[in-house]
Amino acid sequence: MSLDEMAADWRGAADSVFDEVVTLRRAIHADPEIGLQCPRTSARIKAALAGLPLEFREGTSTTGFVAILRGGGIDRTGGNGRTVLLRGDMDALPMQEETGLDFASGVPGAMHACGHDSHTAMLVGAAKALCARRDVLPGTVVFMFQPGEEGHHGARFMIEDGLLADPAPDAAFALHISPNHASGVVTTRTGTVMASADTLHARIVGRGGHAAMPQGGLDPIPVACEIVTALQVYIGRQVSVSDPAVLSITKITAGTAHNVIPGEATLLGTLRTLSEATRVQCHAAFVRIVENIAAAHGAVGEAWIDTGYPVTVNDVRAAVLMRESAVEQLGEDGFEPMIHPIMGAEDFSYVLQAVPGAFAFIGAAPVGSDPATNPPLHNTRMTIDEAVMAKGVALHCAVATRFLERGFEAG
Ligand SMILES: [Zn+2]
Ligand SMILES: [Zn+2]
Repeated sequence: MSLDEMAADWRGAADSVFDEVVTLRRAIHADPEIGLQCPRTSARIKAALAGLPLEFREGTSTTGFVAILRGGGIDRTGGNGRTVLLRGDMDALPMQEETGLDFASGVPGAMHACGHDSHTAMLVGAAKALCARRDVLPGTVVFMFQPGEEGHHGARFMIEDGLLADPAPDAAFALHISPNHASGVVTTRTGTVMASADTLHARIVGRGGHAAMPQGGLDPIPVACEIVTALQVYIGRQVSVSDPAVLSITKITAGTAHNVIPGEATLLGTLRTLSEATRVQCHAAFVRIVENIAAAHGAVGEAWIDTGYPVTVNDVRAAVLMRESAVEQLGEDGFEPMIHPIMGAEDFSYVLQAVPGAFAFIGAAPVGSDPATNPPLHNTRMTIDEAVMAKGVALHCAVATRFLERGFEAG
């Protein structure tokens, strides 16, 4: 089978593994695990991959692993030197499922509400389909099965464990389902595709006292309010509208009674940016504004930041390759350009800091539903059209083989 014939038949290859993909997805959905340790999910994936010509590597920080497939074919230059990484995340969220599905979560307080069950199942399907064509596969595929995406930095831990070092991928790709896009429609963009996400903390320390005689204390509440306002002025006046940021103070805590001035106030919030430069600028401004407005009133302001995920940035060439593969496999209607980045965050960003690649969404709105009003990701009633997983498998295979065959050269 030639490479062109192979590309033409990825949909057929995906259909032949579809039943197994659905079975695996449902098994994972019914038994969700949260965080960096997802041992039952890892065991299910390994069982599904048993007997395939794959090398397995794991680290010590998570139950994630990579499975390596070394193809025996040659690329356009007559070589076999490229390595491509495909990633599927496998962790669930701490929430109670309310879908009413036959295979709904059997674990109280845990739910696959972000579709990672389907991502893992699609990646297993792609591994099966690609292994079946191993002889003509013109390079190496690394399948990255990753826990701890939902805020636990799983991708970063796997990189720190050395799992992306040998073989080091030359390109990396990931798919994320979306119940708010028409089923089977792929969407992504060049450059920034998702935001950074950091948690902001501040404490304003004044002096408590009698509310009728505020001059006897040092009231931290108006200082905290002034800081919140100043932060919004900063975002509106010092951050470029063409490289925007969102800063939301979401929690203010102070006080115990109507007649008591509290000794301190605390602030909690989130910062989202679309570039590392703006992110760094906003970190410095947050600390500066908290410390100096507090100091201006004679109080003490302390600010600290829990660093979350970096900005997810698609390589221009990789995003083009993703689009071309989607059109090849799913038709012209199978791709929709993403106009604006999404202010959510994704830890595939760590992989894309190390390896050029692309992250894309694939629509999974259930049949007969309205994508605009479907329960979104992270909702207790989120469901997907499982049929989309066959398309996702085909797209994974097409993206991987297209890169192995020709690198980032178009056409
Ligand atoms: Zn999520
Ligand atoms: Zn997700």
